[in-house]
Amino acid sequence: MAYSYEELKRWDFDYIWHPFTQMAEYKSKEPIIIERGEGSYLIDVKGRKYIDGVSSLWVNVHGHNNPKINAAVSEQLNKIAHSTMLGITNVPAILLAKKLVEITPDNLTKVFYSDNGSTAMEVALKVAYQYWINKGVKGKTKFVTLKNGYHGDTIGAVSLGGIDLFHAVYKPLLFENYLAPSPYCYRCSFNLSYPVCGLHCLNVLEDIVKSHQNEIIAISMESTIQAAGGMIVMPEGYMKGAREIADRYGLPLILDEVAVGFGRTGKMWGCQHEGVKPDIMAISKGITGGYLPLAATLVTDEIYDAFVGDFSKTFYHGHSYTGNPLGCAAALASIEIFEEERVLEKLQPKIEHLTERLKEFEELKHVGDIRQKGFMVGIELVKDRETKEEYPYEERVGFQVIYKARERGVIIRPLGNVIVILPPLSISLDELDKLIDVIKWAIKEVTEKSI
Ligand SMILES: *Cc1c(COP(=O)(O)O)cnc(C)c1O
Repeated sequence: MAYSYEELKRWDFDYIWHPFTQMAEYKSKEPIIIERGEGSYLIDVKGRKYIDGVSSLWVNVHGHNNPKINAAVSEQLNKIAHSTMLGITNVPAILLAKKLVEITPDNLTKVFYSDNGSTAMEVALKVAYQYWINKGVKGKTKFVTLKNGYHGDTIGAVSLGGIDLFHAVYKPLLFENYLAPSPYCYRCSFNLSYPVCGLHCLNVLEDIVKSHQNEIIAISMESTIQAAGGMIVMPEGYMKGAREIADRYGLPLILDEVAVGFGRTGKMWGCQHEGVKPDIMAISKGITGGYLPLAATLVTDEIYDAFVGDFSKTFYHGHSYTGNPLGCAAALASIEIFEEERVLEKLQPKIEHLTERLKEFEELKHVGDIRQKGFMVGIELVKDRETKEEYPYEERVGFQVIYKARERGVIIRPLGNVIVILPPLSISLDELDKLIDVIKWAIKEVTEKSI
């Protein structure tokens, strides 16, 4: 290896500002410097192997260093790495758009590319806003969004979000929306239990829409799970109910499938669990199998058609790397793997195994709610299981657990006091068992010994 661990560490500390990271704390630890990946494993410059327990922040699908995606990207690389989509087009972008339209809900017929989940949502909100302008409808300036939602970190996406810890500081910069309650049945703000709470949340949502109908651009929410909000699984029927409300009041429904898309919940799309068809759908994270930054916002003919005609109707939005050919080639290869290797079919027994093993966590003294939808899991750590008293933020119990897990070869990342398990769909049962064993051990070590 060309550079020593110590040199790389020094330069990392000297030159990099890491995302979502308090650098003072980061620098107090020995960083893990990744050099390679192989299947479910990340391998660092010291040659240590770690299970990638959160799919490199929810993006990896078929494992690292996948031969088929590698081949597709390098084949494309030998042709061209990038050309613009502004007014001209490229082969992989065309083929991928056609494929995406085929595999997403059948009302979605047009693909607008961008390069990450936040931009996919920026596109969604700007399209929805301009849709009404182009149709000559005035006064529509607000979205209905959900408390506890997360749609990315650019200002438009933050405006749609509702997580105080991340979003409160930017409040003066954000545009205002109507905030409906999070369908959080586990510790319901209305003190109602599942599934009554979900219906109640829908009633509140409908009341908001009814009272402000003429101002509202669209109803916008994450699909199936409020992921960054702590893996809050929406109660069954909630999304369907939101679709019905949108229909009743003639509003588009925007679903953010950035986290749940590409098989994470056990189906290709989260909205398929309830047969819901959004008018606008944002996808990103898993789109390239976790290889390259790429995103897409899909819309219906009805929406697209409102932008076709004279120049005043043009959607003046686009990013330099929109429709990047390398990313699109990786995405095509990833979707091909889904189809050829029957990934979703093979995933089902792994989901069942995961569900079974999660029951063991119910016995742990400091585990509260255990939330799962498919291959997305949140295990909530609580100070007191009876009263559900939370750990104070300053104790950073979630981080203590993930640092502990590193000692036994597992990399995960928490959401506050919620431990996330979100492995690549390709993980083997043995690797899954090891991942769960280590997380269980780490939770016990931290919550039953050191605190
Ligand atoms: C991660 C995420 C985003 C933002 O995606 P980035 O690629 O990080 O910008 C948006 N929506 C949801 C639901 C996400 O989980």
